[in-house]
Amino acid sequence: MSTRALVTEAPQTLGQPEWSTLAKKLDIETGLFIDGEYVEALQGKRFDSINPATGEALASLAFGDESDIDRAVASAKRAWHAGHWRYMAPRARMTVLTRLAELIDQHKAELALLETLDMGKPITDALTIDLPEVVSTFRYYAECIDKLEGAVTNTARGALHLIQREPLGIVGAISPWNYPLLMASWKVAPALAAGNCVVLKPAQQAPLSCLRLAQLFIEAGGPPGVFNVVNGDGPVTGRALALHMDVAKVSFTGSTAVGKLIMGYAGQSNLKRVALETGGKSPQIFMADLEDLDAAVERAYGGIFDNAGQVCNAGSRLLVHRDIHDAFVEKFVARSRQVYRPGDPLNPATTLGPVVTRAHQQGVLAKIEQGCREGAQLAMGGGEPGGLEQGAYVSPTLFTCVEQGMSIAREEIFGPVAAVQRFDDEAQAIAMANDSIYGLAASVWTRDLKTAHRMVQALEAGVVWVNCFGDGDMTQPFGGYKQSGNTRDKSFECLLGYTQSKSAWFDLA
Ligand code: NAP
Ligand code: MG
Repeated sequence: MSTRALVTEAPQTLGQPEWSTLAKKLDIETGLFIDGEYVEALQGKRFDSINPATGEALASLAFGDESDIDRAVASAKRAWHAGHWRYMAPRARMTVLTRLAELIDQHKAELALLETLDMGKPITDALTIDLPEVVSTFRYYAECIDKLEGAVTNTARGALHLIQREPLGIVGAISPWNYPLLMASWKVAPALAAGNCVVLKPAQQAPLSCLRLAQLFIEAGGPPGVFNVVNGDGPVTGRALALHMDVAKVSFTGSTAVGKLIMGYAGQSNLKRVALETGGKSPQIFMADLEDLDAAVERAYGGIFDNAGQVCNAGSRLLVHRDIHDAFVEKFVARSRQVYRPGDPLNPATTLGPVVTRAHQQGVLAKIEQGCREGAQLAMGGGEPGGLEQGAYVSPTLFTCVEQGMSIAREEIFGPVAAVQRFDDEAQAIAMANDSIYGLAASVWTRDLKTAHRMVQALEAGVVWVNCFGDGDMTQPFGGYKQSGNTRDKSFECLLGYTQSKSAWFDLA
């Protein structure tokens, strides 16, 4: 039996020894995926994909440069002009994307293993969080295809006015490494569902699962050239895609700094549409009257320590009412110490893996040191866990005595680092929450419906959770206010963003 077939059998029953054995035997695709097949980069360049839990190279991958982006866009353009995908009957396109969702589900163990090896997230998280959400994303957008409608407007007799929804053409997608396959799917699925052709540039730190996705698209019946994947780095490969004159839209998820560059590339080239999902510094607000402190604390540490804090909407700022502050901190430290056990991500019992690279680990540790220098107090963590020096680990960290002006209260750290701040009343909590260049998400904990409603209105964030954190489904528009971005992922609204309207006015008089 091939490794691919083996890992499709009851993956939840596998233990660490089995995952480690499978990891050694795993087939890894290393080419660029252009025109329905894996190919070498034209200039023959390569780069290594590294496992952050061990520091070892997993595979040597083709590195695509400007010439490879040209080749991939040309392939997408041929597919666009051939029209098989965009003119396909909606239900036929639904069949392909539904089949793709099924194939992802069948290969979920293999894909989860690729995610874990490539970016370090615990295998249990990859298997039970990332992969089911990837499957839902393709299912949801498949289901939406024949619900996309145009309109016939009221006119005088003798005229007919149709407003049609059409795909844009070629979509360039640039994705991050924190949920490698899921973040790419949030772009690829709606873009394909709307009838576009796609060139994806995944993050160089974790590109393996996206390469495999492209092959599954062909297996599902997708036409060659409709979905291409070009690995490489941001400044060469991503930039070439965002500058390309034949790309109609670039959909980007990543840092705010790179998001600003992407807007510039659009301006320097063809005014392509730019959809940005960028950084965050999300506040979780705990009012004194909240109903269940234990439940609130549990969601609070989950909101910052899950995925080692490498979550765009990570609830990194804990704003806690003065009356419950000390009890909150005490419970937070005691409970989260029990829950987050750093370890080998291939062990199903591990709840905290390494961060994505050694360089990122050093960056997170430097931000922790800066917090200490600025006068905040460490209530837990603050360094590397002992015994795991071969990997890029950071201990779950909590700062108290944090002032609004400190860097740990203002800058995105993108690691397992939370900062607690006290507030006295609702107005102060809102002012502190909104005092940020970011506005991706926020949460409010209170038993008073009126307070909750007022705060939802006042918070400058694209997503607000009340008495929960991180909840939602595919119908939820997900994206930021302010410098957290200019678009919404998930949701029907996102699908519309991969279409444009055409007005057709008929003179029938
Ligand atoms: P990043 O450094 O901005 O990279 C994101 C992507 O952009 C990568 O594929 C990267 O390529 C590429 N890139 C870098 N420089 C580029 C350039 N000059 N031109 C074109 N592309 C370029 O972000 P990251 O470190 O991967 O991800 C973390 C960030 O993403 C955080 O700020 C997080 O908040 C944000 N994020 C936001 C959301 C959301 O929905 N709002 C979701 C997830 C993550 P290489 O990595 O290959 O160089
Ligand atoms: Mg890697």
